[in-house]
Amino acid sequence: MIEFWVATSNSGKVKEYERLLGEFNVALKTPQSLSSYSYPEETGTTFQENALIKAKALSAVKPNQWVFAEDSGLEVEGLNQLPGVHSARYAGQNASDAENRAKLLKMLQLRSPKNRQAAFQAVIALISPEKEQFFFSGELKGEIATKEIGQTGFGYDSIFIPQGESQTLAELGLGFKNKVSHRFLATQKMSLHLKEVMPT
Ligand code: IMP
Repeated sequence: MIEFWVATSNSGKVKEYERLLGEFNVALKTPQSLSSYSYPEETGTTFQENALIKAKALSAVKPNQWVFAEDSGLEVEGLNQLPGVHSARYAGQNASDAENRAKLLKMLQLRSPKNRQAAFQAVIALISPEKEQFFFSGELKGEIATKEIGQTGFGYDSIFIPQGESQTLAELGLGFKNKVSHRFLATQKMSLHLKEVMPT
């Protein structure tokens, strides 16, 4: 089985990738147990830059392996596309998901209670054992709910209502999310690429 390394400590993302990459004969590995790896600072100003920073840092420790990293976030129209690349730390460097959601609901209520349009963005940076770099992106449009509803998922799932739906992602569940999400769409593009180059 081929090792496929993903540079994340986010258990919500790992859970989704385990399902999304289920068709491949790969063992999904995270760097938590690698003493030689530490998460780099995400100093980029775009999802692509930050995805590449994370993928390169892991590829340096696992030089002959397939490595990928995803950078993602929520862009809210009424907040000038914030939190964007700052989504994981919107309410502060070590903020919890609940604190980030609370800040977003508060800011939107103050700045733009009527325009609640938003979109999740994801960019995957993939680095091959030969050090080639590839990028795949996905977007999920929707709107921000007025309060938290639902129990599943992570991050902003409980305040995000996908376009055409009346429930939040946290109510709709992982089965639904994995058919429409920004992560699913980016992974679908990566999968097409992997099918050409990796044995299943
Ligand atoms: P990253 O790990 O630096 O890419 O941060 C991504 C952050 O964006 C997460 O911590 C969440 O706050 C948010 N986010 C990205 N994708 C999702 C999702 O699928 N559901 C909910 N929140 C998400």
